[in-house]
Amino acid sequence: MDPIRQMLTDVLDEVRPRDEGELAQYIPELARADPDRLGLAIVGPRGEVVAVGDADAEFTIQSISKPFVFALVLDALGRDAVLRHVGVEPSGEPFNAISLEHETGRPANPLINAGALATTALVAGGDATERSAHIVAGLSRFAGRTLRVDEDVYASESATGDRNRALAHLLRSYGHIDGDVDGVVEAYFRQCSTLVTVCDVAVMAGTLAFGGRNPVTGEQVVSARTARDVASIMTSCGMYDGSGSWLLRVGLPAKSGVSGGLMALAPSQFGVGVLSPRLDPHGNSTRGRLLLERLSESFGMHVFEQHEGIAAPGVVIERGDDGAVHVVLDGELSFSGAERVLAAVRGVDVELGGEQLVVDVRAVRQLHPAALAVLREQVGDLGGRVHVEV
Ligand code: GLN
Repeated sequence: MDPIRQMLTDVLDEVRPRDEGELAQYIPELARADPDRLGLAIVGPRGEVVAVGDADAEFTIQSISKPFVFALVLDALGRDAVLRHVGVEPSGEPFNAISLEHETGRPANPLINAGALATTALVAGGDATERSAHIVAGLSRFAGRTLRVDEDVYASESATGDRNRALAHLLRSYGHIDGDVDGVVEAYFRQCSTLVTVCDVAVMAGTLAFGGRNPVTGEQVVSARTARDVASIMTSCGMYDGSGSWLLRVGLPAKSGVSGGLMALAPSQFGVGVLSPRLDPHGNSTRGRLLLERLSESFGMHVFEQHEGIAAPGVVIERGDDGAVHVVLDGELSFSGAERVLAAVRGVDVELGGEQLVVDVRAVRQLHPAALAVLREQVGDLGGRVHVEV
């Protein structure tokens, strides 16, 4: 077995015996799920998916849909238009809380139900069918395959969805939803009832982890800035009122759903999807949390873990045919990386007695403006130049 699959299998076996938590009861169709289901998938930057356990089991996406629908409207309408109707602050309250800002009636964030309803209302579409079709098509682009709605779960959500209806009507009273409020709620129920597997969730998470580009299909689904915005909100609000301890222990942007799905992403590294239906009191998958704690530890994925890479670009120093000293850089060049390069260049310059100097950054994949500014200034002081254009 390849080492990654072996590691994932070990983590899965480790958490398998844990049976704390309860199935979500308030949507009757979800209460019938098999509580022992356990699946895990990860996707890397080149789109290779590794899945273990119940990898093919379909479940409804539920609240994991919220960050993706938010991404779609953010990309389509821009930050200002969207943030007029939904905030970006952690609510510190359960997912279904009536958590609206004092005077504006704006929901605290798009990852609790109130904010998700306001977000769904921003999706284009005249009626519930059209809006729902847009949403399912958008979610499918994140997953890289055509997804469909579980009509039984949808009917069950709709039949017991009075709290969400009440929330939506309240939002309309503040002007955050206009027009067909019941149509918005039905589209939201259909959104939550979209069927996915842990592989789909991993690829969806991966699309956010890799700058909005689906690592399997190669499609740029949303912009890199949108992907970053959504990951930021997931970091502060994704695990509801358990978000603080999640950040401490796991340290990854994440989102849970009441059917026991869980997704997490390590920017530039992995997208992760998990299924395990028993939930803790916050409504987050119990074994899902344990799994992610173990994974984050063994893969060194905590976002605040110190990473050397950003401060260490690739550097090759060579003498060109023209007799000049060429310093060829690649990878990512950050401010701290530029400092390192300059230290190396100064060493060479002394040795070579101020020969002509060219710092070549054409192969740098990510060049931060502050890095370029400091490089230009200091290489200039040494009598050299920075070669930027491709
Ligand atoms: N459809 C569910 C609801 O609105 C989604 C909630 C969740 O997954 N936390 O109640």
